[in-house]
Amino acid sequence: MSMPAHARPFSSTPFGKNVRQKSLLIVFLGLFTLAGCVPPPVTIAPSAKNDSAITQVSIYSGFQTGLYDGDVTYAQLAQMGNFGLGTFNSLDGEMVALDGKFYQAKIDGSVQVVDPQMKTPFADVHFFHSQQQVQLNESLQNYDQLKAYLTKQLPSANRPYAFKITATFPTLKIRSVGKQNQPYPLLQDAVAQQTVFELQNITGTLVGYSMPDYLSGVSPTGYHFHFISADQQHAGHMLDCSLNAAMIEIDYLETVTLLIPQNAPFQEANFVPLPK
Ligand SMILES: [Zn+2]
Repeated sequence: MSMPAHARPFSSTPFGKNVRQKSLLIVFLGLFTLAGCVPPPVTIAPSAKNDSAITQVSIYSGFQTGLYDGDVTYAQLAQMGNFGLGTFNSLDGEMVALDGKFYQAKIDGSVQVVDPQMKTPFADVHFFHSQQQVQLNESLQNYDQLKAYLTKQLPSANRPYAFKITATFPTLKIRSVGKQNQPYPLLQDAVAQQTVFELQNITGTLVGYSMPDYLSGVSPTGYHFHFISADQQHAGHMLDCSLNAAMIEIDYLETVTLLIPQNAPFQEANFVPLPK
């Protein structure tokens, strides 16, 4: 994760409980990928279920600068998806959601079911529907080889995808991050204090997304996976893995919903527009 040059850290202030969460819905319809084209906003009632829609809490470039307190509770997030990844207020560990269950992987290696009243400063969730299944029957030695293999399965780089990869991993390297204190450090500095766990012959599921490059600044672009073991004893952000076999399920996504934080730290942050 690299720091955008224009981003500046700032100190956070508490936000009230009555802050409102507004959503900005952006529908990607292929042609909007051309530079300079702005998609028309499309309003969808929150109750309208769009199974190809991913909901993202906050803006990644803001999160990278230390916006680690969000407004959205996990009870609310569970209404927007049963699958996904993210983190917790104060950057208190890694979140992975699978089959409607949300887990918190803490920096000490413990994994626990998320309290619905906890809040997230950044998350991606959606309702997973497998639209393409690929049985992997070849050896992949590392994450780069997995990325290359996945990219070969995809018809285009210009849409978001979700992936559910179930396997016994000969090797798996995951990490978690620790709860931060204000004033919050940059994400790159907080991640530098991560704890890495190296597992062998571990059975479980990678939960992840790939986001197109044109969402740079808004979302983490490229592949992003979190892991949860079948026994729910190990979880975290995936750094590397090897595979000999796997069931890979892919979900094609069409809509990205952004939940813009209404709290003061986000609203007072200095987002600099990109050159036109
Ligand atoms: Zn992650």
